[in-house]
Amino acid sequence: MTRKVIFCDFDGTVTEKDNIVAIMEEFAPDGWQPIVNDILNENISIREGVGKMFSRISSDKKEEIIEFVLTRSKIRDGFQEFIDFTKQENIPLYIVSGGIDFFVHPVLKNKLNPDQIICNHSDFSGEQIKITWQNKCDAFCHNDCGCCKPSVIRKLENKYSGYQKIVIGDSITDLQASKLADVVFARDYLIEKCVENKIPYTPFETFFDVIHALEKEEVKS
Ligand SMILES: [Mg+2]
Ligand SMILES: [Zn+2]
Repeated sequence: MTRKVIFCDFDGTVTEKDNIVAIMEEFAPDGWQPIVNDILNENISIREGVGKMFSRISSDKKEEIIEFVLTRSKIRDGFQEFIDFTKQENIPLYIVSGGIDFFVHPVLKNKLNPDQIICNHSDFSGEQIKITWQNKCDAFCHNDCGCCKPSVIRKLENKYSGYQKIVIGDSITDLQASKLADVVFARDYLIEKCVENKIPYTPFETFFDVIHALEKEEVKS
């Protein structure tokens, strides 16, 4: 049986809703909404837009934001069982997220090792929150992603050469990674994008669906 490696999105996939939008609604002064629209309309890159949005929030809100995300974000059903499943089957699992370390890590604490989490980083030393980008696009991607998922996959390609690459996601930011994957689990907007780009996918709603499909090898590829 082919060995597998899993690259799983965080916002809207591990958590049921998008945390960045929720954080902006709660903490940012008015004026962040046009930035979201600019990102969606592709007038500005995700990196530029997310950086701009967080720069509107004061650094001293850090603890409040962490508390907010921890109390508010709901983890999708079956996620703990999914982690247990990957451990039991010895499948490397990475959470690759356009989210920011200071709220992604606390949500996943005691669930995953920090080295399984690949996301953007943050700097609270200034007056306003500054996002730092440790996983920028490589030479093959020109989208200015912020956290570039296809670049992350390419970077790990040698380590997992010959492995079946599995991508799990929900949105446009998972599309380029999906193109590199052998198997895609999709929900929500990523389903539309897979259809549009003729990428075979397996739909999921909970992580129990993912476990079930992997156990039965009922995946489209
Ligand atoms: Mg997502
Ligand atoms: Zn990129």
